[in-house]
Formats: sequence, C-alpha cells, structure tokens
Amino acid sequence: MPTAYTLGTGAVVSDPNRTTTMLAVQNERSTLLVDCGGDVAPRLQAVGIDPTTLDGLIVTHEHADHVAGFPLLMERLWLMGRRTPLPVYGIAPAIAQVRRVHDAFDTCDWVDYPGFTLHEIDLAPHAPVLDHGGWRVNASPGTHAVPVVGLRFDDAASHHVLAYSSDTAPSEAIRDLAHGAQLLIHEASGAGPVHTSAEQAAHLANDANVGQLLLVHVPPHDVLAPDLDAARTLRPDVQVAAELGHYPF
Ligand SMILES: [Zn+2]
Ligand SMILES: [Zn+2]
Repeated sequence: MPTAYTLGTGAVVSDPNRTTTMLAVQNERSTLLVDCGGDVAPRLQAVGIDPTTLDGLIVTHEHADHVAGFPLLMERLWLMGRRTPLPVYGIAPAIAQVRRVHDAFDTCDWVDYPGFTLHEIDLAPHAPVLDHGGWRVNASPGTHAVPVVGLRFDDAASHHVLAYSSDTAPSEAIRDLAHGAQLLIHEASGAGPVHTSAEQAAHLANDANVGQLLLVHVPPHDVLAPDLDAARTLRPDVQVAAELGHYPF
C-alpha cells in the first residue's frame, strides 16, 4: 500500500518537537523524498527507510526550510555508502538554490562521492515531474512569496493518489491538482497572502473532494488550536500530521 511518511511537520516557527516539513512517499517499488529543510537522513532512518536507497528528491521551492539540509543529506549519503547520483527534481529557482547551497561546501576530494543530477520541472499546471518506479508525479504552481509547486503522486499499482500543497495561499491550481485524491497533505501555517489556515485547507479539501486531509507546516500549538477547531466544523476528520507519522493512502 502506498504510504506517506511525515518526516517533519512544522512551519519555520513551530513547536519544539516539530522540525521543518519534509515527506517521504513510498510504494512497493520506490521511495521519493520531498524537501529537505532539516537534517532529513536520521528522520528517514527513524521511520525505517534506508536513506541510501532514495530514488529521488523533489524540492518544492527555494526557501531554507525546504532546501537547507541538502548538503548535509549528500554528505550523509556519501558516508553511508551511496555511490549512485541522487536525482533531484525542481522548478528552476529551486534547483538553482540546491546547486548554490551544495556548492558552499567543497566536495571535490571526497572519494566516490555520489553527487546528484538535476531535473527541471516546468512552472505550469500539471507539469510532468517523473514517471518511473510505479509513480507518475505531476506539479502545479502554488501562490507563495517565491515560485513554488504542489505535487500529485499517482501510484500505478493501486491507482491511489496523494497530493501535497507545499507552501501556498489557498490556490485553485492546487485544488485542481488535488482533485479526488485519497489523501491531501496541506500546509496550515495560518491565513495570509502566502500561506493557508487550517480552516481554509478544510474548505479547499471539501471543494477538491479528497478522501482524507492531513495538515503540515503547522504553527505553534496555541496558534493552531483555535484554527483547528474552526477547520473541524467544516471537516470533522481533519488531522494534524504527527512527527514521524505514516499514512497509507
Ligand atoms: Zn516557503
Ligand atoms: Zn516552508
């Protein structure tokens, strides 16, 4: 059964037990990582995923809480024994950021360093990201302070779908991308020009006719709690993702 692992669930400012929002998406054939703002390799190990076996990394946008852990991830993969390049997917500004943060460190004399390959995603509705390992992944632009994409993962074996908003204000493009998904993982940083409240996410999930709504990128508990109460009046089943949670879909 395809499963989403919530390796981190916090906004930039959140509760002390939450790190930055990062996901792993796994089916019977492959495992994809989404964003790496924090120290992601130990978080993968904590849910039972060997970091060296990752089939790819998708970076949704250039912000530090989504990409700043990349050089540390690569150093850990090298020392853990990975020898094949890590495929990295993202829109142009995101992969430019990946390259910049990586190149802040000198890896040229690291013997057998695996390195990575960069694969650019178009910033357009339903843009193709990848189609292998039993996944078809598409991306659509969200509404944020910088260019960003949300993601739709179609599992070929089950025909089940996971959608992930990444950082965005309530967005018609993300609603359309998520339409009919078994599971929508949506940010709930709070209402504003570049983010979404839990209540707004619940409204969008109802409009998109998704099966289950899981909130990530959440603010501190005292900010989230009243917003969550409002969301539950629209959608009683809404859940806040657990750190190191696993959610079959
Ligand atoms: Zn952001
Ligand atoms: Zn963020």
